Amino acid sequence: MDSKQFREAAVASIDEIVKYYDTIEERPVVSTVEPGYLRKLLPDHAPEDGEAWSDIQKDVESKIVPGLTHWQSPNFLAWFPSSSSFPAMLGEMYSTAFTGAAFNWICSPAVTELETIVLDWLAKAFALPECYLSNGSTHGGGVIHGTASEAIATVMVAARDKYLRETTPGLSGEELEDAIAIKRSKLVALGSAATHSATKKAAMITGVRYRSVPVHAKDGYKLTGESLQATIEELRAKGLEPFYLTATLGTTDTCSTDDFDSIADVLAELAPPGPGEVWVHVDAAYAGVALVCPEYQHIAAHLDRFHSFNTNLHKWLLTNFDCSVLWVRQRNWLIEALSVTLAILRNDYTDSGLVTDYRDWQIPFGRRFRSLKVWFVIRSYGIKGLQAHIRKHVGLGEKFAELVKTRSDLFEIVTGPRFALTVFKLKGKGDVTTLEEQNALTKTAHDAVNNEGKIFLSSTVVGGVFAMRHCPATPFVEEEHVVKHFEVLVAAAEKALA
Ligand code: PLP
Repeated sequence: MDSKQFREAAVASIDEIVKYYDTIEERPVVSTVEPGYLRKLLPDHAPEDGEAWSDIQKDVESKIVPGLTHWQSPNFLAWFPSSSSFPAMLGEMYSTAFTGAAFNWICSPAVTELETIVLDWLAKAFALPECYLSNGSTHGGGVIHGTASEAIATVMVAARDKYLRETTPGLSGEELEDAIAIKRSKLVALGSAATHSATKKAAMITGVRYRSVPVHAKDGYKLTGESLQATIEELRAKGLEPFYLTATLGTTDTCSTDDFDSIADVLAELAPPGPGEVWVHVDAAYAGVALVCPEYQHIAAHLDRFHSFNTNLHKWLLTNFDCSVLWVRQRNWLIEALSVTLAILRNDYTDSGLVTDYRDWQIPFGRRFRSLKVWFVIRSYGIKGLQAHIRKHVGLGEKFAELVKTRSDLFEIVTGPRFALTVFKLKGKGDVTTLEEQNALTKTAHDAVNNEGKIFLSSTVVGGVFAMRHCPATPFVEEEHVVKHFEVLVAAAEKALA
């Protein structure tokens, strides 16, 4: 493909993408293909000769689109959104055009410098404490990772190495190796029962034990200092050493926010700042971007008592997948755990210590130019536009919960609305009395709704209760859609109860 053909192909592709977006609401939200559908449609072998773009493009609509679930549809209410915007798509286009493996500053200074700048912009827009700014008093800073899972695994490695380093002072050589090997086998990473599985997976990758701290309905499924204290004391009594905790702003099931102040207070007592402290990472994968609105910023006020924080711009902030932003209070914690300086990587800029080499802030070596799409999104919407985006969805969540309450004969809210998410169940009637029977009833309605295909919801189990999750946070969802979602749910509930 030469540049003239590229221009024609790109125009044709953009036309098709615009048409896809303009008609997204009319498409059944979940793909209905059967497993293995694509193998039947594509040849067994790769083509020997190159094909014309027009032939390739035809296959996108006829063969690929049927196998897509339309995450940008206003009727997509499942899990959390993975939001998209045209400015972010343009960012992806430029990023891929300028492609390179920008592991060091000198690989493309703009890649590194723009990332540092937009992460400082965001830290300020989210009102994060100044310790997370690249020029803050503790030498912190931000970095873009692909996903929250990568961010969590990365900080867990840094936390493990920091803990091992700080709790084996004065040793060297074989003595140090032995002490570290013994200690490593005792390390425990903590999450709560509501923490996303990314933390357990990070513990598996990091080679440490994992324990989850119980959460309770009476606390709104938040992790509290009290529960944390009980778990830490229990583990220590067994000779184990908790060194890391994921606290969550917006848990996956119910969007609860852990009780940060009581967690920090308990840790200040049990593991005071200094050698042996427990690294606290705040995973705000979905709800963290709500901090762009001043009414949520009190949540971030004490994050300087913790060590790191991440949120996924690709979930709720109009930035196409993938883009998880991570801040640490001291960048050296990452660099000391992850730095590799092979001879081939040496250069005057790195040696001068005046530049950031983001390869040392992440697990992969090479990296994409992700900050371009962030820059385009922030500049295109402005902070006010981003606030309006979040507030619209929070308002739609409130609208949905109000509608649910108007049919208290059919539904019961389990939690929420929180950050647009309402978790609800069907109300048992007459002979539907046990928890199992009620759960079966809600599941019947849930499955019927998803099979019908007008809207797509996900479910969860909270405190033994099977519940549906309604999260209207995709870019094009409006109040009229929420009213329609509710009508679909009422019809399914009435049928299930009939
Ligand atoms: N943390 C929370 C609270 C989540 O809700 C999710 C996914 O929904 C994740 C982490 C994992 O996100 P990622 O796919 O970016 O690893």
